Amino acid sequence: MLKSKLFPDSVYLLPGDIQMPFTCIYCSCSESEQRPSDAHIFPYALGGVLSTTETVCLKCNQHINQYVENPILRSFAFFRSVWGIRGRFRDVVRVRAKLSFAGMTKDVWLDEHGEIDSVIIHKTEDEGGKISYSLFGPPEKVEAKKLEMSTQNPSIRWIDRDLHGIAPPESVAEFSIDLGGLPLRRLASKVAFERFAQLRFPVLSADFNEIRRFILHGDTDGKCCGILIDERLLFGSFNFQPPSHAVVLIAHPKDTVLGAVVSFFGLFYYWVVLSKNYRALAAFDDLLIEDPQKRESDRPLLRGQTGKVRLSWPQVMEAYCNNPADTVTAASRYATRKFKEAINTGT
Ligand SMILES: [Zn+2]
Repeated sequence: MLKSKLFPDSVYLLPGDIQMPFTCIYCSCSESEQRPSDAHIFPYALGGVLSTTETVCLKCNQHINQYVENPILRSFAFFRSVWGIRGRFRDVVRVRAKLSFAGMTKDVWLDEHGEIDSVIIHKTEDEGGKISYSLFGPPEKVEAKKLEMSTQNPSIRWIDRDLHGIAPPESVAEFSIDLGGLPLRRLASKVAFERFAQLRFPVLSADFNEIRRFILHGDTDGKCCGILIDERLLFGSFNFQPPSHAVVLIAHPKDTVLGAVVSFFGLFYYWVVLSKNYRALAAFDDLLIEDPQKRESDRPLLRGQTGKVRLSWPQVMEAYCNNPADTVTAASRYATRKFKEAINTGT
């Protein structure tokens, strides 16, 4: 006897709140295949605050942690150290630096406040053969060292000299960051894409395939992300104060580009093109600023009103696309100057 299927599988529409099912923005898997995860927009280890729980699956998040976020942490160790930004294990990386003082240069370690963590002893001898020691470092460690030296050699007389007339020691931290490299550009793209997804805009269409491939695999076919060096922006609307992180999403009905500007520590800036086929129904811009020291996030409106920021994307992208090496130089100059200003004003 033939079995006939009289009743097709029924579809029920439930009244009341409809919860959108979880779908991963990277691999499109659903909750039945993969668990959703707690994904920080800016990595937690860099002081990131906001996270999303309904956008990225556990598997993709682990992949991104391993291949996109972790490679960056070493590069940013210096800044995490200077600004005391602790990771999950409350770890602050010590950083190597060079200290120049009274004509000498020594290798030192900086502590989590960017200060020298041990005592530097500088020995000089005048024409008469008189030996002098200058001690420099954290006051309590200098005192301990003086005591130790005096015990070994009771004839030492210590003179407190104020530094008046002597150039204060200058420490130059050694850090090198590959500003134009794939890791930072992938991270900037991830920040922009996840922020956009967090705002609950649909991101599942194929229009976002290029940015997905770039984030997940570093696929460089398309120019999705580059260094931003446009001074009108860097010294204008986007002049974020160190050490804050920021991401601005921008779309306009007259553009087909959905883009973003991402800034790490207010020092390193990237433009990101999330989609080149985007049809915005209305102009919008959205700014998220995060303070990594206080672990606070803020959403001030750019220029007091949303939808006012409009960028000429070809112009913004041009410099990096035509000559990446030159933009690296310009970007390091900008970051170095801004960093020194921030440190001098005690930010
Ligand atoms: Zn996924």
